[in-house]
Amino acid sequence: MENGRVVKVSGPLVVAEGLAGANMYDVVRVGPDRLIGEIIEMRGDKASIQVYEETSGLAPGAEVVSTGAPLSVELAPGMLEQIFDGIQRPLELLRKLTGDTIRRGVDVPSLDREKKWAFAPCVSVGDAVEPGDVLGTVRETVIVEHRILVPVGVSGTVTSIREGEFTITETVAVVRREDGTETELPMLSTWPVRKGRPYREKLPPSKPLITGQRTIDTMFPIAKGGAAAIPGPFGSGKTVVQHQLAKWSDVDIVIYIGCGERGNEMTDVLREFPELKDPRSGESLMKRTVLIANTSDMPVAAREASIYTGITIGEYFRDMGYDVAIIADSTSRWAEALREMSGRLEEMPGEEGYPAYLTSRLAQFYERAGRVVTLGSQGREASLSAIGAVSPQGGDISEPVSQATLRIVKVFWGLDDTLAYRRHFPAINWLNSYSLYLDRVMPWFNDTVNRAFRENRDWAMAVLQQENELNEIVRLVGIDALSPEDRLTMETARSIREDFLQQNAFSELDSYTSPERQFRLLALIRTCHNESLRAIQAGAKPERVFAMSAREAIGRAKETEEAGFKDVYDEIEKDLKAEINDLIKAAEEQN
Ligand code: ADP
Repeated sequence: MENGRVVKVSGPLVVAEGLAGANMYDVVRVGPDRLIGEIIEMRGDKASIQVYEETSGLAPGAEVVSTGAPLSVELAPGMLEQIFDGIQRPLELLRKLTGDTIRRGVDVPSLDREKKWAFAPCVSVGDAVEPGDVLGTVRETVIVEHRILVPVGVSGTVTSIREGEFTITETVAVVRREDGTETELPMLSTWPVRKGRPYREKLPPSKPLITGQRTIDTMFPIAKGGAAAIPGPFGSGKTVVQHQLAKWSDVDIVIYIGCGERGNEMTDVLREFPELKDPRSGESLMKRTVLIANTSDMPVAAREASIYTGITIGEYFRDMGYDVAIIADSTSRWAEALREMSGRLEEMPGEEGYPAYLTSRLAQFYERAGRVVTLGSQGREASLSAIGAVSPQGGDISEPVSQATLRIVKVFWGLDDTLAYRRHFPAINWLNSYSLYLDRVMPWFNDTVNRAFRENRDWAMAVLQQENELNEIVRLVGIDALSPEDRLTMETARSIREDFLQQNAFSELDSYTSPERQFRLLALIRTCHNESLRAIQAGAKPERVFAMSAREAIGRAKETEEAGFKDVYDEIEKDLKAEINDLIKAAEEQN
């Protein structure tokens, strides 16, 4: 390997010369502490290096060694339940080795080399295999089966396959290639983080990712393999929404990347996440989660690495045939890191000092999401959905990071601090949020849940928009100026907001709503509207119609057990109709 010398140190940026043989994105070790860095620019024999560890004390003249390999992750059993830093060092182990302030330059393997895993083969000697075929499986946690795949670039005939307990570096299979050479395959493989892992075919985003969150699934759904952004000011409920998505989304694996800024932001996640329970299995959510955390003692540059590390691990689980969700919090912090490096590289600054390539970098992340058919002779359908939180200063989404993100993602869940202040949670603003997957996924809801799903949803959105317009009139001339029909519209909109959109994450019965129950709940509100209209048109007093006890029952309807909810809702509907008939009869008798 070639050795160079440091000529300049500027925070996390180190310039070194004498590295003519090195490549862009090679990992290098810098100085006597062997700090870990990555080449991000090459000019002749001069390399600009982004160093992922604190560079204080480093001086010109220090030695720089290129490893000749790009920044890569290790892929094998042992990733789940782990908390890694941005360059996939296991935090727990680092702490054990070096104490709370992590010593610089420590070399620890990303994945445990000693631990033995029970490997159960899925192929036999003589089988022809190609990349993506399942060689065997390991039960990594009680909820996740880790599938060991034939790596990219290897195909041929299985000449040996073992069963039993192995470490990740021991050979479990041998494949003879066409040219006669034999390749020994351990469970462990590696992959360069900046390169997307290959798949056979991309599929259209036509299946929804069911989250159990009514505002999301019914109003602004995300497709499996889709990309969504949650921008929101501090305190607007971003963390709770992300936790809800991690807990309830119908995915097999969750990758959570925390690019927090202050130390405490990160410790919040580290503390809270392991306490979350996977509602389906009752186990800790960590059993199907990989956490990537930038600790406060790592420089901002590591945020960028963590994004790539996270998405690569996500792709690896997708290759196994799983549905994966990757949640990045927050991409604004990552963009700030890009801005800082760009400034130090003295690049031409774009808007607000962010580099001109901000949009393309963000796109490179979100574009790795998708629903695909994996490699392998029996390609599996799988997906990787990407959800990025954006934290614009003061909640103003006209700033460059929010704007660049909005050009890429197809779903926008705009959190609103006025709603949060009124304790309308989740504080997703229904007037400015959108989903460009709506037309793609609504056929699924119509076919699977109910033929009227889309129509009901559109009706509710229309009522909310009418409310917004009527609010203007009320502000100008007062509520008494409205016709009884318009007052009913206002009342129905209130019901849609309070009885449907508002969802308490901390209530056991309300935290998750199945698509079937979402449909029925909204249909109940619509029936109530139609019946009320009938009563008002028959001469019933609006006040009496608005004071019906059925409205109260609808208000409580979201707090219903999933099992048996149909009976409860049928009962409410029956009572509602009886009450309306009484009102109409009373009105007719009066006239
Ligand atoms: P942020 O991460 O945007 O700063 P949080 O997610 O911590 O905000 O939310 C702030 C507070 O708002 C929470 O502590 C909680 O009390 C409340 N909250 C947010 N979302 C919900 C929800 N869906 N249900 C109930 N309370 C919520």
